[in-house]
Amino acid sequence: MSRFRYFLRVAALWELVSGLALTLRYMFLPKVTLSYPQEKGRLGHRFRGEHVLRRYANGEERCIACKLCEAVCPAQAITIESEPRGDGSRRTTRYDIDMTKCIYCGFCQEACPVDAIVEGPNFEFVGESREELFYDREKLLANGDEWEGVVSRNLAIEAGAVKEGEG
Ligand code: SF4
Ligand code: SF4
Repeated sequence: MSRFRYFLRVAALWELVSGLALTLRYMFLPKVTLSYPQEKGRLGHRFRGEHVLRRYANGEERCIACKLCEAVCPAQAITIESEPRGDGSRRTTRYDIDMTKCIYCGFCQEACPVDAIVEGPNFEFVGESREELFYDREKLLANGDEWEGVVSRNLAIEAGAVKEGEG
């Protein structure tokens, strides 16, 4: 650029004017940002959030205490204890997830033969102490009760039984 042109650009505050013009143009374009938490973005059906332990429609726990999730967990975040029931079925007496260790890989969900442990859509969970993030069976079952509608729908989409966006 010649010295003269450079002088003209500086004198006309060209950089400033072009910056303001860019700002003005973006004021009238559709916004790509959201005012979280008032506005929330769409989550994919494979989103891996807070874990839930699911029940069947009759209220029976799905988990059969096979411990595949515990074995596959790379963070060793899951601890399960179990005992047989009077009817011969086996159920957990303890199902803990240390959420401070979890890396949200989804392996536990993939390993589960009965879709009992699933990573649900909830990402808005916090704790002020480590203890609050040590989830036990009751907490996970309560999560399952709360999120069952969304979780079962996401699993149906994943299995191809329902299309995303269908009623
Ligand atoms: S998501 Fe991964 S790290 Fe977290 S509990 Fe499941 S298997 Fe373990
Ligand atoms: S959650 Fe699934 S994989 Fe884990 S112990 Fe229960 S049935 Fe087995």
